[in-house]
Amino acid sequence: MASWRDNIRQVEPYVPGEQPKNTNVIKLNTNENPYGPSPRVKAVQDNEDLLRLYPDPTAGALVDALAEYHGVDASQVFVGVGSDDVLAMSFLTFFNSDKPILFPDITYSFYDVWAELFRIPYKQMPLDENFRLKIDDYKGENGGIVFPNPNAPTGIYESLDHVEEIIKNNPDVIVIVDEAYIDFGGETALPLIDKYDNLVVVRTFSKSRSMAGLRIGYAISNPELIKALNDVKYSYNSYTMNRPSLVLGVESIHDDAYFREKVGQIIATRERFVKEIAELGFTCLPSSANFVFATHESIPAKEIFAAAKENNIYVRYFDKPRIDNYLRISIGTDAEMDVFVSFLSKYVKEYK
Ligand code: PMP
Repeated sequence: MASWRDNIRQVEPYVPGEQPKNTNVIKLNTNENPYGPSPRVKAVQDNEDLLRLYPDPTAGALVDALAEYHGVDASQVFVGVGSDDVLAMSFLTFFNSDKPILFPDITYSFYDVWAELFRIPYKQMPLDENFRLKIDDYKGENGGIVFPNPNAPTGIYESLDHVEEIIKNNPDVIVIVDEAYIDFGGETALPLIDKYDNLVVVRTFSKSRSMAGLRIGYAISNPELIKALNDVKYSYNSYTMNRPSLVLGVESIHDDAYFREKVGQIIATRERFVKEIAELGFTCLPSSANFVFATHESIPAKEIFAAAKENNIYVRYFDKPRIDNYLRISIGTDAEMDVFVSFLSKYVKEYK
């Protein structure tokens, strides 16, 4: 065997949810938003310069819009190609200790992939039997902390008091709170930015802003940490954000009414759906996200997953310890959820 193989970086990549070629499916598998983005986003006219010119490397217009929206200074905002890019940059920038970084055992399955990729030691801290964070687990020596709030794929939100306790107890490392789903329930950790210099909050346009296809994510923190992130970004690729995303991202931020309306609609659909499937023998973990994590009292999740797929309804199933009897179901439109509930109702009745 040639020895160059020894020098190849070996990683087991993150596996994203399936994007089926068949368009005739009810797609509840990747936590996308079933509604389109703001009409303002769709109204932007293409022009030659939108595609011809390099984008502004500072992403200035979008950074300014986000800073104004969140009431922070522009020096406190970093934007990237989806929150995956922002999180990856954050791992690279902030997690450079010999001590392990900490995150839950059941969480966003990209965290361990980035840790492996960047050779960051890590420890996965088991959630308790109700899938809650055990706050005391995050009080020992470590090289940094990252967790989503609400968590994925459970949808469970931890109170701001708990989040603050973790940040307060770890003044010597960076704590990243991944708020990909915060708009669907719970209080943001953003106000804690002024109180703690070790906090980075990460957000995305992919879920609540219905713009997963454009890839926009951002981090808010203090100017020192944002500068560190930018220094790493400019050492890697100055033009991470494309020009159309910068323009359309600003349009989305400027249409708060639409944003709130659609988020409200998804929350209402979620609550109705949880009640309806409870009558069919399902239990959902308490969700503050745009998805629910559901298990059935007698039918294995894996079988329901396969049967739904046969019927062109896609949900997500993780064949992993502790969660292999759960389905993660993204909340679609009312009409889509009605079709899914009818399918489940018939399936559960006829199941032998
Ligand atoms: N964080 C969490 C917890 C997620 O579930 C996702 C979605 N896969 C992301 C971050 C990344 O989303 P995006 O890159 O689309 O912003």
